[in-house]
Amino acid sequence: MPGGVGVQSAAGPIVAASIVTSVMPSPHLDRVDACSFCTELEHGEMPADFRRLTPVRDRLMDRNALFATLPSVAPLAVGHLMVVPIKHVRGIAQLPNAERSRVISAAAEYAARLGGSQEAVAVFEHGVGRGLTGGCGVDHAHVHLVPVSRNAIAEVRRRILLDYRHASRYDLPSFLEATPPSASYLWFGASDGPVTAVRTHDIPSQYLRRAVGELIGREWDWRRLAGWADFQASLSTL
Ligand SMILES: [Zn+2]
Ligand SMILES: [Zn+2]
Repeated sequence: MPGGVGVQSAAGPIVAASIVTSVMPSPHLDRVDACSFCTELEHGEMPADFRRLTPVRDRLMDRNALFATLPSVAPLAVGHLMVVPIKHVRGIAQLPNAERSRVISAAAEYAARLGGSQEAVAVFEHGVGRGLTGGCGVDHAHVHLVPVSRNAIAEVRRRILLDYRHASRYDLPSFLEATPPSASYLWFGASDGPVTAVRTHDIPSQYLRRAVGELIGREWDWRRLAGWADFQASLSTL
């Protein structure tokens, strides 16, 4: 696992979301119409279309000036978390270098903590670009963390290489730094090595959720996945 940085120092203390959200401003909300993550980060309450999937209203597990950490409303596995920049950008490649580095290192540190009871943790960002193509229907950058087997990670890498002729292995910070703000891209890997990545606008909706879900035999469409028990378990994984 990537190391050297204390989890608490980089990711910040785990604090009760209800306390934090009342004092943390979200200066970007006024520039973004109807972004569900901006709304949730501002108010600490899940949007209505997410709440039909779960009775929990406040899922923020961690929150600081740069990012928040929360469980996927439709987890592919227990411990399926997301690291979400507070700033509204469509992909973390659009963040300033220093902020992007913090998000990447926080994701790696969370993965190290999640990996304590799991074989491996898949870490990925699944597509940004024009409109709402790619990604998972939420047009606000987020890095997914999904505990899975090492074999599943290898298989998803293989699938990306089959589906995208130009996909290749990259050092993640270098790949993102070289990615123009307007580019659409996806990357996938374990938290402790190079990622398999490609820059392309041709990313089907939920492409990586689907790739992971099909491998582990799990419903991947977050709109159909009733993962309430795993969601609740994920809330206490850190
Ligand atoms: Zn947003
Ligand atoms: Zn997503």
